[in-house]
Formats: sequence, C-alpha cells, structure tokens
Amino acid sequence: MNNRLTPEELSWQLGDSEAKVLVYETRFEDKVSEINSGIRKIGTDEWSQLQEKTVSILEEYNLDDVTTIMYTSGTTGNPKGVMQTYGNHWWSANASALNLGLHEQDKWLCTVPIFHISGYSILMRSQIYGMPVVLHSSFEEKKVIEDIQRYKISIMSVVSTMLRRLLDELGTGRLPNSFHCMLLGGGPAPLPLLESCIDKEIPVFQTYGMTETSSQFATLSPEYSIERVGSAGKALFPNQIRIVDSDGQDVPQGADGEILVKGPNVTIGYLNRPDVTADKIRDKWLHTGDIGYLDSDGFLYVLDRRSDLIISGGENIYPAEIEGVLLSHPGVSDAGVIGAPDEKWQQVPVAFIVKSDPGVSEKELLALCEEKLAKYKLPKKFYFVESLPRNAAKKLLRRKLREWLEAEGDGIGH
Ligand code: ATP
Ligand code: MG
Repeated sequence: MNNRLTPEELSWQLGDSEAKVLVYETRFEDKVSEINSGIRKIGTDEWSQLQEKTVSILEEYNLDDVTTIMYTSGTTGNPKGVMQTYGNHWWSANASALNLGLHEQDKWLCTVPIFHISGYSILMRSQIYGMPVVLHSSFEEKKVIEDIQRYKISIMSVVSTMLRRLLDELGTGRLPNSFHCMLLGGGPAPLPLLESCIDKEIPVFQTYGMTETSSQFATLSPEYSIERVGSAGKALFPNQIRIVDSDGQDVPQGADGEILVKGPNVTIGYLNRPDVTADKIRDKWLHTGDIGYLDSDGFLYVLDRRSDLIISGGENIYPAEIEGVLLSHPGVSDAGVIGAPDEKWQQVPVAFIVKSDPGVSEKELLALCEEKLAKYKLPKKFYFVESLPRNAAKKLLRRKLREWLEAEGDGIGH
C-alpha cells in the first residue's frame, strides 16, 4: 500500500480489496493504529514472536490467477484497484528482458516506490531473472550516485524529476561505464532533459507503461535514443498499440489520438468495478486515456493525458510540451501548466512556476516560450508558487492546480 495515504484512504483500500492481514513496518505504527477495520495487523517488530509453521510451497503457478491488486497512483482521481495476474508479471518481466537484454552482471537500483508498479516490477524481475536489486527507501540523489559506483549498478528506473535532480547533483561528473540503462518513465519527459542526458552520455531509455500494463509496455531501443529523442519507442515483443479517434476509429499514421494497448501483460480488469472495466477494456484492447501518435516507422510518441488536454480556439495544446520548455530555464525548478477558462478561446494555458533562482521574471519566461512555442501555446498567466502538488510517484497533480486556479484570490499568485 501507498504509505503516503491517510488512514481513511488506507482503510478504504483494505476494505475494497477484502484484505485479511496487513503487514506493516513499525515506523508506520501511528498511521496503522488509526485504520478502522477488523483486519489483522502485524508489525515487522512482531515477526520474531510469531509462531513458526510448516507451509507447503506452491509447486505450480496458474498464470491466470490474480496475485497482486495494485491501486493506480491517483493522478486523475481516486486510485482504482488493478488486478494483476502471475501471467501479467511474468510476461512483463520477459518482455523487458527481450528488449533491454539480460546480463550476468546486471544489478537494478530501485528508488521508486514498491507500492507502485515501477518499483514492484523491479522486484518481480529480480525473482524471475535471479538478479540482485539495491533497494532505497526513498530517492536521494547523493546516495544514488554513491551506490551506482559502490555496487556497480547497471540499470535504474527513474521519473523525470528524479533524473533532473540526478543531473544537477552529478554536475560535470559522469556515471561509471558499468551503468548502461536509465529507464525513464512515469510521465512525459521534457525534451531539454533528454538532450542534457545525451550531452552527459547517460543512456536514457524512454518507456511508456502503467499499472494496468504491469509496467513497461513500449520502450525506445538504445540505438534510437538520439535519432528518435522524445519517443517512448515501440511496443515490446508481445504487445500491440493502436491510436484511435473519439469514435474508436483508427487514425491515419502520424495523427494524434487515444492510445490503445493489447498484450499478455494487460490487466484483466479493475477490482469491483465491472462498469469501468467494460468501459476501458473492449475486445482485449485497453483504452489508456493517454494521447499520442505513431510515426511512419511505428515509434510511439506520448503527448499527454486526454483529461489534461487544453483546447484553445479549436487547437490542441499539450501541457507537457509547455512544461518541458519552462523546465529548460535554469532558474525554474518545477513547472505545471493547465487550461484556464477564457471567453474568446474557451481555454488558454496558464503556468505555475517554482523558481530555483528568485531573480527569474515573468518576462524572461515568456520570452523563452515565444522562442520555442507557437503563439497559441504561450501561457497567458504565470503564478509563482512555493511547490507543486505531486503524488508519491512524483507525478504532477494537475487536478489540484485546477482547484488552485478556481480558488484564485486565496493567495496562490505572488
Ligand atoms: P490514475 O490512473 O489513478 O490517475 P496514474 O495513471 O498516474 O493514476 P500509473 O498507472 O502509475 O497511475 O501511471 C500510468 C500513466 O503514467 C500513464 O497512463 C501515462 O499517463 C503516464 N505515463 C507513463 N509513461 C509515460 C510516458 N513515457 N510519457 C508520458 N506519460 C507517461
Ligand atoms: Mg491511470
């Protein structure tokens, strides 16, 4: 379970999943004590007092059985319980190895939450491949760089905010040669960030996936990392991708539309939500709610979530693109863009900025945007804030920004 949730949220998920036992780390004692449900709770400090029993080891796994119920990270609303089967995890780990390769020396550094699929899938790969994992309980860039050197880490999973912090910490330094894959997923990757990695010779593999696909679904092979910068690559071996319009019809090559995915690592459905399952999974194709396109060679480009799309005077604007430009400014440490209602254009983009250099001005940011973006994509307003709302997966919660905007006047802009 996500240890950042409140006792109420945890109680809800425990009830929804009909869990029988909650095993928790003792440092979460206070939170756990507030969980109101009849569930049996076992703290890790009680392990030694438990009575030993002989258990029979499962000799055979039925790949169709559900083994994990994992709640989505809740970027767009309440998390949904995704049912993942043994087969989903097995195929996911194999598809990853068929693409990235598997080497005897491989060691994966896990600093992403293991209650999300990004982290949990690393543990699954470890079991299936017999590969060591170095596990950090949180992301600390200094410790990451130290451990990459100390343990000769070869591969690591990151989201873009982590990669940015890692680059800043690295300064003019370099990662050792034993490091061969920075698997970057979780959300749109700002282009300037990818370009800095190319400069620093960090091998970044952009990947696209979600809880519903039991992690990686598409990944960019290393030989294309420069030529196809910004792409999340091709569907992994057993997977397929389609792009459709709002009527569910395939769009012409190169056109934007909703990303549909199909493959043996795709969930069988959402727990206790037959309505959502029927709506999202049709003929084994999962409707992801993400927008993207396939180029003429079948490489996937993920633009943004459908629910975050800004339509301004009939033009589609993807907030992630504008955020990428703003984040390329050295004085900006975080940026979030949403659509604000507008009489003339229906919607216009507005930006929330966290400064790393107090001297950064609105004028300067606008000039940068003017240089990089078409006129209709320019933010109409800049709000300077202390920090941006992000969930445990470090994803920007644009729905919270929309709430901020609605409450404008309560002191967000200064
Ligand atoms: P919820 O479904 O509860 O709102 P969530 O979708 O953030 O939460 P996850 O399953 O952890 O929960 O995240 C998967 C989503 O992350 C994808 O559907 C997509 O929107 C985004 N994502 C993942 N990889 C990429 C990528 N390479 N580029 C852009 N977006 C990505
Ligand atoms: Mg989702």
